[in-house]
Amino acid sequence: MTDSVDPTRRRYSPQTELIHGGIQRSQHGETAEALYLTSGYVYDSAEQAAARMSGDEPGFVYSRYANPTVRMLEDRLAMIEGAETCRITASGMGAINAALMSSLRTGDRVVAASALFGSCRWIIGTLMPRYGIETEFVQGDDMDAWAEALSTPAKIVLVESPANPMLDGVDIPAVAEMAHKAGAKLVVDNVFATPMLQKPLELGADVIAYSATKHMDGQGRVLAGAILGKTDWIEEHVDPFIRHTGPAVSPFNAWVVLKGLETLDLRVQRATSNAAHLADAVAGHPKVKAVRYPGRKDHPHHEVLMAQMKAGGTLIALSLNGARAEAFRFLNALTLIRISNNLGDSKSLACHPASTTHRALSDEERAAMGLDDSWVRLSIGLEDPADLERDLMAALDAI
Ligand SMILES: *Cc1c(COP(=O)(O)O)cnc(C)c1O
Repeated sequence: MTDSVDPTRRRYSPQTELIHGGIQRSQHGETAEALYLTSGYVYDSAEQAAARMSGDEPGFVYSRYANPTVRMLEDRLAMIEGAETCRITASGMGAINAALMSSLRTGDRVVAASALFGSCRWIIGTLMPRYGIETEFVQGDDMDAWAEALSTPAKIVLVESPANPMLDGVDIPAVAEMAHKAGAKLVVDNVFATPMLQKPLELGADVIAYSATKHMDGQGRVLAGAILGKTDWIEEHVDPFIRHTGPAVSPFNAWVVLKGLETLDLRVQRATSNAAHLADAVAGHPKVKAVRYPGRKDHPHHEVLMAQMKAGGTLIALSLNGARAEAFRFLNALTLIRISNNLGDSKSLACHPASTTHRALSDEERAAMGLDDSWVRLSIGLEDPADLERDLMAALDAI
């Protein structure tokens, strides 16, 4: 890999680095980030090829390893997160899988909060045990359960906070301290909070994993993922894993995410203010049994979440009076908000987790998360909040 960012360059606030961070201009001096849609690189001589491949000479050798457009995105994200280094992958799951599997061996232990994105639960609950990795799920808000699970040495701890789909909170500093005493690295999936609202490294995490598909692209176009952490750990574990197993992102997709980052702060602010307004607006409706929004005092993990996040974020979970039929009637009555399991888009989206994103869990697993058929998840976008409110109210009335 090449060193890219000039260490003497002045650093700006994350809001400014979202726009300028990591940019490397070609000899043409283009304003916008260049899109290097190339799989390979040519050398001036056989000697140079040998020196590049051995790492004696800096420079790109193959886009499965690194690419100039992808590198700009990696440097930009590292700057806004305050991380030493970043690697971009083809999807969020590519990032989380590499962050988790790259350092593990047979016999290692992994502890995770039970409320996780479905595919993360599959990696930990199904894939890892096949390779003799011992795994354990802990109720994220049960500090005694964390203490018990981390009284035995572990290699990796994974949490998501706020978690999908119930927006559960995990006390990241407390879990980080216990993880470190157990000898583990704490990996935080920070997708729901976004880099604008929560800084896991400052809270004690060692590694952050993202789906850049969500708020970073933010306009529902491409898949991408990111891993951020310390350079020595990433170079030792993640780099060989990524190079040889191949979850490399397309430079085109990385370029789309780079351009998405330029408006990330504005978009997250607008979607968050829309979501905060709508969570309050629907809370009193007679068809609504419960609202879960991190910024509302009636969220059971409000204090833990708001001690870690600057604002409540862009997602809301709603429990409706009734069960699946009522939840489906509500979704089918929406006209502006579309039914989709995606999230973090500029378009507001709604889904029924128990029959879609969390369909593969057993009834017991769903019950342990507090997720029954009455819940819907809303991902709030950038529309006029008055239009969104009218759509939600009309659909609630239609139940
Ligand atoms: C979407 C998502 C992922 C997976 O990301 P992909 O880009 O879809 O692979 C992981 N974690 C969370 C919390 C997500 O929302």
